[in-house]
Amino acid sequence: MSDTPAPTAVSMDNIVALAKRRGFIFQSSEIYGGLNGFFDYGPLGAELKKNIRDCWWNDMVRRRDDIVGLESSIIMHPKVWEASGHVAGFTDPLVDCKVSKQRYRADQLFFAAVVVEGKTVGYVSALESEKTAAELQAAAESFKRKKAIQGSLLPVVVKDMTEAQPDEIALIPSPATGEPGSLTAPRSFNMMFQTNVGAMTDASSVAYLRPETAQGMFVDFKNIVDTGRVKLPFGVAQIGKSFRNEITPRNFIFRSREFEQMEMEYFIHEDADWAKCHEEWIAWCEAWLKTIGLPASHLSRYTHPKEKLAFYSRGTVDIMFAYPFGVQELWGIAARGNYDLTQHANASGKPQEIFDEATKKKFVPHVIEPAVGVDRILLAVLCAGYAEEEIKDEKGAVEKRTVLRFSPRIAPVKVAILPLLKNKPELVAVAQKLHAKLKRKYAVFYDEAGAIGRRYRRQDEIGTPWCVTIDFDTIEKPGETFTLRERDSMSQRRITEADLFALLDEQVY
Ligand code: ATP
Repeated sequence: MSDTPAPTAVSMDNIVALAKRRGFIFQSSEIYGGLNGFFDYGPLGAELKKNIRDCWWNDMVRRRDDIVGLESSIIMHPKVWEASGHVAGFTDPLVDCKVSKQRYRADQLFFAAVVVEGKTVGYVSALESEKTAAELQAAAESFKRKKAIQGSLLPVVVKDMTEAQPDEIALIPSPATGEPGSLTAPRSFNMMFQTNVGAMTDASSVAYLRPETAQGMFVDFKNIVDTGRVKLPFGVAQIGKSFRNEITPRNFIFRSREFEQMEMEYFIHEDADWAKCHEEWIAWCEAWLKTIGLPASHLSRYTHPKEKLAFYSRGTVDIMFAYPFGVQELWGIAARGNYDLTQHANASGKPQEIFDEATKKKFVPHVIEPAVGVDRILLAVLCAGYAEEEIKDEKGAVEKRTVLRFSPRIAPVKVAILPLLKNKPELVAVAQKLHAKLKRKYAVFYDEAGAIGRRYRRQDEIGTPWCVTIDFDTIEKPGETFTLRERDSMSQRRITEADLFALLDEQVY
């Protein structure tokens, strides 16, 4: 897809509607009204997600000699999360509206003083969006007009609720009610889901659903070193579910409470050039995203300012994606020093060291961590691939086609097999034979119902890169060829079975 033009701006409403209509993503527990922040992946979504995971696993683990895989448990000893700092510090600042009972993340709730002729005459508030600053400016103008205050209004200075002074909080209106006086001061809210292990439900049985997969790699570090025949530098990779009780899950599957992560811890020597290794991993992640079809035009980098990094962190760069709701974090690549292994060594009393043959000294390796969410990648490929086009049908009439330009690597269906007419047994027989052969290796779809143009359109909408039509030339002309129709160009050419397999072998890897 990287050589097809970037699609025009797409609305989230279109993405959500298509995802539901074609069985990619449903609201979880929909028949009971849904559960905020939880989603189900339908037949096509499950395939798409699996393909994203498989591509990552193949490229990250199987096709490299320096990375091994891991599948650690979701619930781990609670001491893991004390040592990692999550019990004390995995918090978001929370603001309550006492009247509406709405909850906001303080860093996503913005306010501004309304300043007229140098004097603060009130406050306005708005939730985070691409237009927050403009909304606050408009709200300030409207405030001044409604209160009939004379004089010139200063341009608003946008702040979030974590920056609000104690005397300002009572004056800032709640976005839910539009009135001041109901917002609380921000307080820390721990995002880990708690549960109890075993029959007792007292403090001793408290455990947590993991909020990240990374800690599994640190806690099993010694097991892997002792059994995995790994030598520095090496990585441990894992794919799995993580859970965060997000205060405001939003933007569809972008920020949910149950999601899936693909994380890798790349362990390096304490004296290694970590900055070089960090940069190499950022470049690797960017290149990988392109192999699954994300266009470079939608990707950018955000370097976390030094002063905002955790004390142990040497540097973090996020690969950002231009979603319809703004440019947001897709993949974080962090240089974490040796903080995590040191924490677990101290808390468990078990050294987490490696012996350096050259210096005959033991040391704790440092780590570079690329961490990405499968759901965020899936949303990115849906948004980047979605296009609505006007095309001419066989009779020359203009019609609309919706197309998902998925890369063949991740497309849920690779090929649709379409006998031209379902009432011609000689066409159907060839089509069924081809279907049987292809489905041993690839996800393919057999469809004989309806006009051929309509069948093509159905496949375009679910992102199938190729349709193969079994027509009269197939059975009447020598050499048994099929019509291969390409999704993006809509061009058609004749292809033999051997060439079809060769094409798939090259493009689906
Ligand atoms: P954010 O700042 O967006 O909350 P984060 O910096 O806390 O994300 P990390 O802890 O670095 O995220 O997690 C690594 C990756 O996991 C993120 O880059 C993102 O792709 C994914 N991720 C994190 N939180 C969520 C979530 N609530 N829903 C879906 N994916 C998530």
